[in-house]
Amino acid sequence: MAGTINLTSQLKKHFGFDKFKGNQEAIILNLLNGNDTFVLMPTGGGKSLCYQLPSLLMEGTAIVISPLIALMKNQVDAMRNFSEEDGIAHFINSSLNKSAIDQVKTDILSGRTKLLYVAPESLTKVENIDFLKDVKISFYAVDEAHCISEWGHDFRPEYRRIRPIINEIGSAPVIALTATATPKVQHDIQKNLGMADSIVFKSSFNRSNLYYEVKAKTNNVDRDIIKFIRNNPEKSGIIYCLSRKKVEELAEILQANGINARAYHAGMDSATRSQNQDDFLMEKIEVIVATIAFGMGIDKPDVRYVIHYDIPKSLEGYYQETGRAGRDGGEGKCVTFYTNKDLQKLEKFMQGKPVAEQEIGKQLLQETAAYAESSVCRRRSLLHYFGEEYTEENCGNCDNCLNPKKQVEAQELLCSVLETVIAVKENFKAEYIIDILQGKETSEVQAHLHEDLEVFGSGMGEDDKVWNAVIRQALIAGYLSKDVENYGTLKVTDSGKKFLKSPKSFKITEDNDFEEVEEEAPARSGGSCAVDPVLFSMLKDLRKKLSKKLEVPPYVIFQDPSLEAMATIYPVTLDELQNIPGVGAGKAKRYGAEFCVLIKRHCEENEIERPEDLRVRTVANKSKLKVSIIQSIDRKVALDDIALSKGIEFSELLDEVEAIVYSGTKLNIDYFLNEIMDEDHLLDIYDYFRESTTDKLEDAMDELGEDYTEDEIRLVRIKFISEMAN
Ligand code: ADP
Ligand code: MG
Ligand code: ZN
Repeated sequence: MAGTINLTSQLKKHFGFDKFKGNQEAIILNLLNGNDTFVLMPTGGGKSLCYQLPSLLMEGTAIVISPLIALMKNQVDAMRNFSEEDGIAHFINSSLNKSAIDQVKTDILSGRTKLLYVAPESLTKVENIDFLKDVKISFYAVDEAHCISEWGHDFRPEYRRIRPIINEIGSAPVIALTATATPKVQHDIQKNLGMADSIVFKSSFNRSNLYYEVKAKTNNVDRDIIKFIRNNPEKSGIIYCLSRKKVEELAEILQANGINARAYHAGMDSATRSQNQDDFLMEKIEVIVATIAFGMGIDKPDVRYVIHYDIPKSLEGYYQETGRAGRDGGEGKCVTFYTNKDLQKLEKFMQGKPVAEQEIGKQLLQETAAYAESSVCRRRSLLHYFGEEYTEENCGNCDNCLNPKKQVEAQELLCSVLETVIAVKENFKAEYIIDILQGKETSEVQAHLHEDLEVFGSGMGEDDKVWNAVIRQALIAGYLSKDVENYGTLKVTDSGKKFLKSPKSFKITEDNDFEEVEEEAPARSGGSCAVDPVLFSMLKDLRKKLSKKLEVPPYVIFQDPSLEAMATIYPVTLDELQNIPGVGAGKAKRYGAEFCVLIKRHCEENEIERPEDLRVRTVANKSKLKVSIIQSIDRKVALDDIALSKGIEFSELLDEVEAIVYSGTKLNIDYFLNEIMDEDHLLDIYDYFRESTTDKLEDAMDELGEDYTEDEIRLVRIKFISEMAN
């Protein structure tokens, strides 16, 4: 059949495209010939067409199983656009009422409908199954097929029932499609759908325009992120956090630092959530701080960076999420902040879950940790995880390739690992192999009597880190593999066996050291929100000393929040000191000098990069009211409306706004000024402040005269301070 039609002209006729993308044609031919077909193609590769076109060419109705109810309508609308016949495509999901479903059924029975989209939970309903039994099915398409596997990043139990239901409705070819599948997930999909022998069409998953980097997550992570965003101005970016609480906190911190950011997570009310999403798509906001709930089905082509604030739960998730950067083929920076501690936290969270699920979750996390800690090319590690070999020596677009580490010979170490894996009959995971090498008599080791093995303790000269690096890199080099059925169990491959017989050079790079970096940034001391707790305690000591000398209580000199701010912003001159909340000119003159000297010395001794134009304002230093005012102004809410909604007088609101700009935060209130003020007035007042030697309100009112109201002068002064001083 397939040989007789010209597929390219069909493509042109139905979809208007001139040629097929990637493997599309071969995939479609395979399906048209009645074969089960497995498609692995990155997001944006054009998977939908692989079932849409054949559905139009084959007799009967194609059933498309897809988990994204929200996207179904779009897909159906898109198909209808290609055809004159509305009945050509339909969907059935929980959102349809009885009469809509009846219409769908009528169209299907009349033979008009070529594509029927069904949510998996609707497919399991008896009445739907019974109805479909009487329908001629051309084929079944299982989209987002990774949902079948517990090892995928989006497991859905209903997906496991697809095969039995297909058998009940009536057999027809199956095409399964996904954008992410490790070999393990791929195996699960094929096994579960009973299509072990199907041809697999796999496109490369390499995204050469994406830059991958993993940075140590220290206590300065917020500052690092603010700095990153400021270095990438006016670009769209997504920051992923694991918890809703963190999403909100970080969004607030970014806003308080003048960054146009919004939060997005499933716990927010849906109106705000979709507003934030729309604003991001419309580029009214630059940064979205989100849980991984954000991004499903979002096709913003020019997201320029994706930051992972926390370690992703799996590498598949990481690939999906980073994949949202640079879809147009342009710049896409993917930066992950990693610390071992996050790993432990996540493992703890999993403890309430069933053991099997915990085991899976832990393995997936281990893979992510291995990726983060490894100094091997990120691209190569990532693609290897998806079963693809990347052979370039240096990809030139990841942190490890741009700063290559020295390689060391590990031939003997690899031999020890391979011997140990064989000695324990290829039945154990990496951690266990390392225990054996290190001669650790754990209860598991004792239970298997493995302390009697010859290899037991043979690797005590090297620490765990080294063994980890050897094992990870041996996996990538193909000397070891992980068992697909019992994931994580190490096997020696044929080339591993060959290596043991005649060992050759095997060079590895040491893993990146994240622990060392952490030591430089000591943990926060109890309760303080200073970014630099060491400096904070030094400042406290100085305050104590001065208080004794001057015989005044410490808080009279500076209060704690002021010291915290100093240990965050690092002011080194009396002028800079006055930017600190609670520090006026008088206090700065009277007590400030010694503090500036101390801070300056501390910065020099520790080579601290002072955030001169990077004033990180911790939200804790601001009252909730201030943060909320900043947010409202960012959203261009009229100032009198803000006052109204906060239940304060307009003049009180101006007090707050003044405090905000005087403490160094830039605010843009032009939208409001332009609306309420005469342009000449505005310019006159602005010019006055430009020429004046003082910003005192009384002086301004005297000088400008009765034509100008106090509020007007204050408003323009806010604009002036914000633009000139900050
Ligand atoms: P996927 O499901 O793999 O993420 P889609 O099926 O949504 O990708 O397709 C991504 C985009 O590519 C769509 O805009 C689609 O119209 C377009 N596309 C698909 N096939 C072709 C083709 N042969 N020529 C040009 N554009 C195509
Ligand atoms: Mg798709
Ligand atoms: Zn690289």
